[in-house]
Amino acid sequence: MANPDSDYRPSALVDYTFTMPTSPVLKIALPVPLYQCFDYSLPEGVSFSAVKLGVRVRVPFGARTLTGIVVENSSDPSVTQDKLKSVLEILDTEPVFDPALQKLLFWVARYYQQPLGEVLNAALPKVLRTHKHLPTMSSMIYHACTNEDVDQLLQKAPKQHQIFNLIKAHPGGLTADEIAAHISHWRPFVRVLIEKNLVRETMDDRTLSMTPHSAAESLALNEEQRHAYEQIHRNLHKFRVNLLAGVTGSGKTEVYLTLAKDVVGCGKQVLMLVPEIGLTPQLVQRIEARLNLPVALMHSDLSASESARTWLQASTGKASIVVGTRSAIFLSFRNLGLIVVDEEHDLSFKQQEGILYNARDVAIYRAKQLSIPVVLGSATPSLESQHNVTLGNYHSITLSKRAKLAKIPQVKLIDLRSKRAIDGLSNELLQAIDTEIKQKHQVLLFLNRRGFAPVLLCHDCGWTAECSRCDSHMVFYKEQDIIKCHHCQKQEKAPVACPQCESENIIFLGEGTQRIEGRLKEIFPDIAMVRIDRDSTRKKNTLRDKLDDIRKGKFQIIIGTQMLAKGHDFPDVTLVGILNVDHGLLSSDFRATERLAQLIVQVSGRAGRSANRGRVLLQTYQPEHPLLNRLLTHGYQDFSMEVLRQREHYALPPYSFMLLVRARAHQQMLAHQFLQDVKSSMPASGSSRLNLFGPIPASLERKAGLYQSQLVVIAPNRKTIQELLPQWAKVIQQHPLTNRVRWNIEVDPLETG
Ligand code: ADP
Ligand code: ZN
Ligand code: ZN
Repeated sequence: MANPDSDYRPSALVDYTFTMPTSPVLKIALPVPLYQCFDYSLPEGVSFSAVKLGVRVRVPFGARTLTGIVVENSSDPSVTQDKLKSVLEILDTEPVFDPALQKLLFWVARYYQQPLGEVLNAALPKVLRTHKHLPTMSSMIYHACTNEDVDQLLQKAPKQHQIFNLIKAHPGGLTADEIAAHISHWRPFVRVLIEKNLVRETMDDRTLSMTPHSAAESLALNEEQRHAYEQIHRNLHKFRVNLLAGVTGSGKTEVYLTLAKDVVGCGKQVLMLVPEIGLTPQLVQRIEARLNLPVALMHSDLSASESARTWLQASTGKASIVVGTRSAIFLSFRNLGLIVVDEEHDLSFKQQEGILYNARDVAIYRAKQLSIPVVLGSATPSLESQHNVTLGNYHSITLSKRAKLAKIPQVKLIDLRSKRAIDGLSNELLQAIDTEIKQKHQVLLFLNRRGFAPVLLCHDCGWTAECSRCDSHMVFYKEQDIIKCHHCQKQEKAPVACPQCESENIIFLGEGTQRIEGRLKEIFPDIAMVRIDRDSTRKKNTLRDKLDDIRKGKFQIIIGTQMLAKGHDFPDVTLVGILNVDHGLLSSDFRATERLAQLIVQVSGRAGRSANRGRVLLQTYQPEHPLLNRLLTHGYQDFSMEVLRQREHYALPPYSFMLLVRARAHQQMLAHQFLQDVKSSMPASGSSRLNLFGPIPASLERKAGLYQSQLVVIAPNRKTIQELLPQWAKVIQQHPLTNRVRWNIEVDPLETG
């Protein structure tokens, strides 16, 4: 059935006309991790002309039935007619993606060398990945199907019962939001009720609705903002990449909003990509208030019907503004006029599992395809984007001052070598905290490590608690008295005695956010504090609620990880303490210093955002580190130029192009052998100007019981990689070890190691 020679032909897809093949087959892209499309014959009685390219079909695949997309018609089946299986069902009459979007998805598959069927599948709204259809243009509404008493029936299912009673009490039906306002985590239970025929799900014809709040007047842009706005505005009708490099709080969002207003005014749509959905409630409110228009949301926490609704609203043009995380770049738009990528440097735009793509870069391709502008905004632009400015590919626009009176805070180093820090908090920092909270200000403390302590150690024999499945320490959680691996989530009870020498002299080394919180509670018992990390915000809406409470001034001390670094506006924070970022200075990833600088600048940017002055204290054991000093004395721009010079010297990206082949296997030798073979199969590796490094073990060599290795390929230009990759991927796929080794290809990786 498989045809290893079939290749993607984007041009065939864009043109929907069929030529009648002699012995017709449909080539179908299926959501399987294989690089080929699969041949099927038409179901009996269906004429060729009834099947358009780009429609979904159901087909048998081994023992399963899969939903795929017709990508080609052909007269040249890869298997003999008698072995050819037939399509079971043709699901659509019209293609599911518009021609431009299809072309984009084919490009993504080719550029990132990801299986076409998986790319197309990932781009589909969840409901279309099955045999279902998009609901019509409206939201879901839930009705009770019966007035009968169900007490008996649901006696053993109290939650279903509760939800049923709620829905039944509203004869007009309830929307998802309305149910959610009363009962949390209700969806799976409603599903069961629907299966039991007790509840019916229908479409509501109310369209996009807006949270009620008063409209806000536009702010008068300051001179820098006006200049930025005008430059972009003047070029709104063509492709152009604008890099809006504006310090934290310089009013980049105001510039986006003013532009969005113009674009929407011309009857076009705006897509705004943000790194994390935790950032959006504030932003959505701000957009709605300013433009007096509802915002459609797209992110991975949406239910199937919610994302289907956004898909429809975007593709029909009902939504003028869509705000979403990376997957929103694959939405269908009726008339897209502008793409904004906020915090363009952020790693979250890169999908790290499944389809490996970078939404920021796909956004640029899409803008080019549609001849529209894209705005990349950041206080700490990625080195790639800055390099593109130097090359003349992007246009840089700078906002150098904060929009409000506030000044960018200075960062002061605290040398931990000469000072004693108890539980990770130096005296100098504690005194500064004390001063600020006495003045009723807020303090933000940043530590990128959750849990209580990262290492559990036997003081007598030196034993440490290691994960049995990963090359890593187990993190100690004091309150639950457990140890947990952050790489594979394995957890167990914390040992009372050392498993090696039975000593009870077990100590915790290092600090996580919980330990800092505990220590601060001892020192400042009357001060309200909040901890924000992945452990404390697991439940839906807790992050949103906590952020709201911070802005309302409920807490004076805020302790948190990376999650706090992103775009939040906390006007009353006057002191930011960065507890320990030294591992960023020691990491083997060549991008580690860039990331660290971005983190420091972003976290510092949370201080002094209103009229109050702000200050930043950074604790470190390496106060003399040259790059750190460069950043703190000369600023991010100067730091970037220095790091770019180093990258150029070592011919690292963005001065070269990188590709990783990763392999994981239960035996170290297998992953290594596989990559070794892959390396020697590299077409023309000697003559081309490719540099191959490895295979080398990943920095976390064993994760969840699998050994990880990687092969690094560096090419002087994109073309070399793009030309070689398709053939190479095919060779890799046919390697006999592929049944024992899991592998993937990552183009333009952002994390190596
Ligand atoms: P950024 O997106 O660059 O972090 P924001 O757009 O969020 O900055 O602006 C930071 C703060 O400054 C916000 O509180 C915003 O309301 C305010 N602000 C932005 N532009 C202006 C302006 N032109 N006049 C007055 N306040 C402004
Ligand atoms: Zn011991
Ligand atoms: Zn583990």
